[in-house]
Amino acid sequence: MTENTRGAAQDRAEPVGVVGAGTMGVGVCQSLIQAGLDVVLVEPDARAADGARERLAQSLRLTRLLGRGPAEVGGRVQWAHSPEALDGVGFVVECAPENRDLKESLFAELDRICPPRAVFASCTSAIPIALLAARTSRPERVLGLHFMNPVPLKDTVEVVRAEATSQETMDRALALLGRLGKETVVVPDGPGFVLNRVLMLCIAQAAALVDEGAADGATVDAVFEKCLGHPMGPLRTADLIGLDNVMDTMAVLREQTGDDRYAAPPTFAALVADGHLGRKTGKGFHDYS
Ligand code: NAD
Repeated sequence: MTENTRGAAQDRAEPVGVVGAGTMGVGVCQSLIQAGLDVVLVEPDARAADGARERLAQSLRLTRLLGRGPAEVGGRVQWAHSPEALDGVGFVVECAPENRDLKESLFAELDRICPPRAVFASCTSAIPIALLAARTSRPERVLGLHFMNPVPLKDTVEVVRAEATSQETMDRALALLGRLGKETVVVPDGPGFVLNRVLMLCIAQAAALVDEGAADGATVDAVFEKCLGHPMGPLRTADLIGLDNVMDTMAVLREQTGDDRYAAPPTFAALVADGHLGRKTGKGFHDYS
């Protein structure tokens, strides 16, 4: 057996680890179990875990009703409070909050716990993969898998190949994504990769227009949706991502690039401070109540 086929066989036999059961972690978990894989899902916050269980069950129910999911996926998820539960997994998808210190220490912890052959993929929106890989003894087995939200419904993943990422790691990641039915676009490493380097500027500028009173949110989004045919304008996209997550992503981009255009305009920061985080709380730039 070659290194590659041994890796693929191990990925099939072993459960996949998912770290963080928020918007993305639950979506990744759903896609994995619908593809017939077992998952160990790590969520340290008990309340977040309860909410995640409910969202996952609801989403699976809906998928079944629409005839798009297998009838039985119960028992495929092992819930855990700590990464120690990942000591037998061959592939980890990290979906913790967009915070560099937090993710760096998580990667060091995963490196200590997981088997040496395990691949670590981060779902980070903007943190360079090389920074996370540097906290491990296996930089060749680290890459970025920037899934889109909602994960089960989005066809394509932005795959980030860092300088140290090996071909074997790419092959194992692409095989796993193939099993999930995902297409891929491979991009180089760097702050925000390709998508968020561009998208976050667009969201910041859209929010600045609203701040200046030049146009309201509905008008800004209508221009993108109607004139360009985008399914969602930049502010509705920000609401979907979560305004807290967008602010964290902009902060990473500003820190990593030194470009002040990534600063969140005041109204944006005020929405987050008031707990209006977009769709997940029912209000952001738009009202979803
Ligand atoms: P989220 O806030 O919804 O979920 C994060 C989860 O991680 C929470 O449940 C939190 O309790 C948990 N957590 C906190 N500390 C942890 C730790 N030490 N170990 C394990 N879990 C921990 O965030 P999200 O929107 O799911 O984003 C997760 C990652 O995916 C971020 O890096 C984000 O930038 C990226 N991302 C988000 C989107 C999106 O649309 N929301 C899209 C692509 C990528």
